[in-house]
Amino acid sequence: MRLVTVARADGSTLAARRDGDELHAFVDELGLNYPDVGALLRGLVDDAATEPLAGDHRIVRPVLFPSAIVCAGVNYGAHVREMGRETPTSPTLFLKLAQALTDPDATVAIPAESSKVDYEGELVAVIGRGGRRIPREQALEHVAGVTLMNDVTMRDFQYRSLQWFAGKSWHASTPIGPEIVTLDELGDLAALELTTAVNGEVRQTGAIGDLIFDIPALIADISQVIELSPGDLIATGTPGGVGHAMDPPRYLAPGDVVEITIDGVGTLRTTFAA
Ligand code: MG
Repeated sequence: MRLVTVARADGSTLAARRDGDELHAFVDELGLNYPDVGALLRGLVDDAATEPLAGDHRIVRPVLFPSAIVCAGVNYGAHVREMGRETPTSPTLFLKLAQALTDPDATVAIPAESSKVDYEGELVAVIGRGGRRIPREQALEHVAGVTLMNDVTMRDFQYRSLQWFAGKSWHASTPIGPEIVTLDELGDLAALELTTAVNGEVRQTGAIGDLIFDIPALIADISQVIELSPGDLIATGTPGGVGHAMDPPRYLAPGDVVEITIDGVGTLRTTFAA
């Protein structure tokens, strides 16, 4: 199943299922829509009714206000090597605020304060069933599906101190989506490959099987610390090929178009502007 959140012309939003070219809005027992996929997941809905959706709409980020956005850093073997780091024995985690997220078709502003804006293509697990101290072996039962994220990073702010937050959570900087794809559509996640292209030039290629801490390992680790809730996002980290690691570095400029693709999951396409 492919889950989306759409915005209608009047500004209202609702959760829907995409079947090919058709969208079907989820409705609850009162006939009301769910305002986003996050609300659908919180409603513990396995088989909610749907009705065809007509009229003008656009696809927005699938979860509007996750209670937690936990991101893994330095989590691909190849990216660890390009950044000159040791292979970690525990995950490197940081947070984004919900206000850092933006829609899959958004134009992301390059802030005047940063001269080192970079892309990071990532696979994201979306929590379907919450929990605390989730065992690794049961972790995938807590995943509603996966989506894509561009963990847009202001490198000058990331590295101004030991904590990365200031480089990672700029307002409306992080596109996610366009869809949450349930795991039954994808088979073995480790067999998937992620690519990131800038203006059509492939910069990042990473096998999901190269993750040092895979989705079950991250869920087990993170849920020791916090209680995970439906709609929470876990970003798994980015493979090698970020602009910052090139010689010379190649940061994003106004007009650049970044496309992050995983076959079967989709393409997240973002234009950058001054
Ligand atoms: Mg990242």
